[in-house]
Amino acid sequence: MAEAKTHAGSCRCGAVAYEVETDLEGLIECNCSHCYRKGLVLAFVTPDAFRLTAAGPQTEYLFNTHKITHLFCETCGVQSFARGETADGQPMVAVNIRTLTDIEPFSWTAQRVDGRSF
Ligand SMILES: [Zn+2]
Repeated sequence: MAEAKTHAGSCRCGAVAYEVETDLEGLIECNCSHCYRKGLVLAFVTPDAFRLTAAGPQTEYLFNTHKITHLFCETCGVQSFARGETADGQPMVAVNIRTLTDIEPFSWTAQRVDGRSF
């Protein structure tokens, strides 16, 4: 298993920036109507492993059961993360690892999840 490291990420314009501690294991990309359109590749972490370092204006987007708060930068439109709960009710942050700035693009492996059928 890979070691958890602190990574840095941001939206395109940098108004929203963050640090996250993750081992980049268990990544998913999903074919649901939301994730697929946005091309999200997600790592799920506990809130204590996630820290906003720049909190520029963001817009919330809610859909379906409204259990996950999708947040995107008002300036550049990039979604860096979402806040929600795990299936057993624990708070979690879903980080779009495409917004990490300190790893090589496509250096990760994500499992495809059939969210469209849920
Ligand atoms: Zn931005």
